[in-house]
Amino acid sequence: MCKKIYIAYTGGTIGMRPSDSGYAPGDNLMAQLSQKLPADVLVSLPAFELFEYPQLIDSSNIRPYNWQQIASDIAQRYHHFDGFVVLHGTDTMAYSCAMTSFMLQNLHKPVIFTGSQIPLCEARTDALENIIGALTLATDERINEVCLYFNGRLLRGNRARKLHASRLDAFDTPNYPWLGRADIHIALNESLLWQPTGAEQFQLQCDQQSHVGVVTLFPGITARWVESALSQPVNAFILQTYGTGNAPDSDQELLDTFAKASDQGKLIVNLTQCVQGSILQDSYATGSALTRAGVVGGQDTTTEAMFCKLHHLYSLGFETESVKALLSVSLAGELSA
Ligand code: ASP
Repeated sequence: MCKKIYIAYTGGTIGMRPSDSGYAPGDNLMAQLSQKLPADVLVSLPAFELFEYPQLIDSSNIRPYNWQQIASDIAQRYHHFDGFVVLHGTDTMAYSCAMTSFMLQNLHKPVIFTGSQIPLCEARTDALENIIGALTLATDERINEVCLYFNGRLLRGNRARKLHASRLDAFDTPNYPWLGRADIHIALNESLLWQPTGAEQFQLQCDQQSHVGVVTLFPGITARWVESALSQPVNAFILQTYGTGNAPDSDQELLDTFAKASDQGKLIVNLTQCVQGSILQDSYATGSALTRAGVVGGQDTTTEAMFCKLHHLYSLGFETESVKALLSVSLAGELSA
């Protein structure tokens, strides 16, 4: 039976056009696509319906409202299409992939995010390959999760990170192997694909409040500086530490600041500043000092995925103790067991 794919065009470089102040979102993507693709190629693609969002954004403008919009859009059309493609700016695509993976759990259909580094209107665009690859993958019944497809790589969405600002292979999953590759043939690494364990479970609540902040350690950071960051009215902080989760244990005032915030009910989650690897908070005295201060390890979850997981759980109304317990539970494949 002929499959039908829904494409949501949210903005991003893919459809941008030059303006006096640099590239800016551009509308009528379908017209641009038709100009670039000969009619016989267009008809050879999986059948699709492209919906252009009324407010196209540069994804640097992403807000929880946009996540709500994307997830609800897919949920509403879930039973009418066989697969979904989301065209999105690359800057925050990793966040949006992670967020939708939590909002649309136990998917039984593919949701493939893609975009491009060079707009469709430019001669050297990478948009065509990315759109065609994503469309093709969105018809594959073996995929039951939110993925990111870019430059021939199929990646788990909530493991992905934008690791290069200008290369066409901008994305990777530093803590998880690629789910597949598109070369002459498309090959999936089937044993790595997410297997849904039950019926679809869509939790679309994504409130507009700020629930999560990020604090990055740097040499010479002071208790005063951290105190001012931790005084922000949010539920949880991601603390980006060194190596396996280490912080300056020679600064008791600094450690006391973390302890005070966690005593006051703020959740502080330890993630490494390293691109690859996991938190092992008690490997060094400089890490176990954080354990005593109430800081909890976030394992090998990316900052993008942890930010979204925390936002998701607090949006659903979970209390800090329950959120803490879920940090070590993989909700959608975002962490290694
Ligand atoms: N600033 C753009 C965006 O994220 C970059 C891109 O799409 O590649 O919307």
